[in-house]
Amino acid sequence: MSPRRKRADVVIIGGGAVGASVLYHLTKLGLRNVLLLEKGELSSGSTGQSAAIVRQHYSNDVSIKLVKKSLEMFQSFGEEFGDEKVFNRSGWLFLCPPEAGHIFEENLNRLKDSGVRTWEIDQAEANEMLPGLNYSGVGKIAFEPDSGYADPVRMVSALVARSKEAGAEVLVNTPATGIRTQNGQITAVTTPETEISTRVVVNAAGPWAKEIGKWTGIDLPLEISREQDVVLRAPPGTFDLKPAISNMVDRTYLRPLEKGLILVGTGHPKTNDPADPNRFNHNADVSFIEDVTQRLVKRFPLLAGSSLVSSWAGLYTITPDWSMIIDRAPGMDGMYLAVGGSGHSFKLSPAIGLCLAEMIIDGKASTVDIAAMRASRFSENIPLRSTYGGNRG
Ligand SMILES: Cc1cc2nc3c(=O)[nH]c(=O)nc-3n(C[C@H](O)[C@H](O)[C@H](O)COP(=O)(O)OP(=O)(O)OC[C@H]3O[C@@H](n4cnc5c(N)ncnc54)[C@H](O)[C@@H]3O)c2cc1C
Repeated sequence: MSPRRKRADVVIIGGGAVGASVLYHLTKLGLRNVLLLEKGELSSGSTGQSAAIVRQHYSNDVSIKLVKKSLEMFQSFGEEFGDEKVFNRSGWLFLCPPEAGHIFEENLNRLKDSGVRTWEIDQAEANEMLPGLNYSGVGKIAFEPDSGYADPVRMVSALVARSKEAGAEVLVNTPATGIRTQNGQITAVTTPETEISTRVVVNAAGPWAKEIGKWTGIDLPLEISREQDVVLRAPPGTFDLKPAISNMVDRTYLRPLEKGLILVGTGHPKTNDPADPNRFNHNADVSFIEDVTQRLVKRFPLLAGSSLVSSWAGLYTITPDWSMIIDRAPGMDGMYLAVGGSGHSFKLSPAIGLCLAEMIIDGKASTVDIAAMRASRFSENIPLRSTYGGNRG
């Protein structure tokens, strides 16, 4: 498809949670001539495969501030967009093994000091929310009443629809095929049919971000890993899961879908499963399905006899410290990076979009100081600290 306009103030490459959020916030801050290019359908990358659990249990200040701001936006989504089904404030539980108890204490204190509503609960309180929970091997449990999970596809659709009302143009099935530059400044983006002149491009291409980086000579430190999820139907009348759960004891995460259905994946520590974003197995492996089901039933014996409803594999785009790069691209004026979701950046995408929009329009993010997410942190050897590691953040 060819864009209506031949010139845009900003061209965003990628129609996932991050690109859609940047688009929405740019238009909300008053920019009208913005174009988003999506090579497939909206949410056809990692966003559409996401478990979309929204929890606040992070261990560094910038992630805590971003997730707090994002949660505020998730909670007001219903009112602002008239769609109450995007965010479900189901509550979130974190099962922590005894050996990580000291980190748990440290994190909980930091979170409380940062104004996050979270506290430790005991076995009896956990059992009220999770009937039949097998407590063996569980050291501590944290609860966040305000957290939950979201419908990522609905969220992206709502953000895009509102941006279009504000004057933005969004083209699906329209890949960006190249970026033109002159003297270290972005000048245009090409598609198969045309060229759009612009001085600002946002790389929000998820697993393809590395490829886009190469177009302007930037070697982004990103790795791709396959991430699998299954949906199980609990045996009738046994277990109606309400909260979302991150279970570090058995290395699983789970959350309800519709009544009786439970989405389950595996959490860290685990090894990466490298993949080519243009050619990977989108189906979950049989061995994964068996393994994750066993881990689930071990913790929730009432779920024995659950039946498989669906399964899939999506992609994580991972930076060396498992946190996104949100920054201007070093050495290329007009190029902005919102890359490396690292398995947990759906939940951060509302605030990330706002901060990047502020950086583009005002020269600096003001809602949250995101300097710690700068691109140069790896060469400076100042990675973001994350106590549990991996996608736990
Ligand atoms: C199975 C799974 C479970 C997850 N669970 C969680 C979770 O519980 N909580 C959480 O917070 N995060 C989770 N994540 C991570 C989260 O989903 C991602 O961090 C987030 O969705 C990344 O969004 P994005 O917009 O950066 O990338 P994407 O959604 O991948 O969007 C990038 C888009 O760019 C498009 N694109 C690429 N190249 C071009 C081009 N040349 N031209 C035009 N368009 C292009 C792609 O088609 C794609 O749609 C999970 C991820 C997976 C895979």
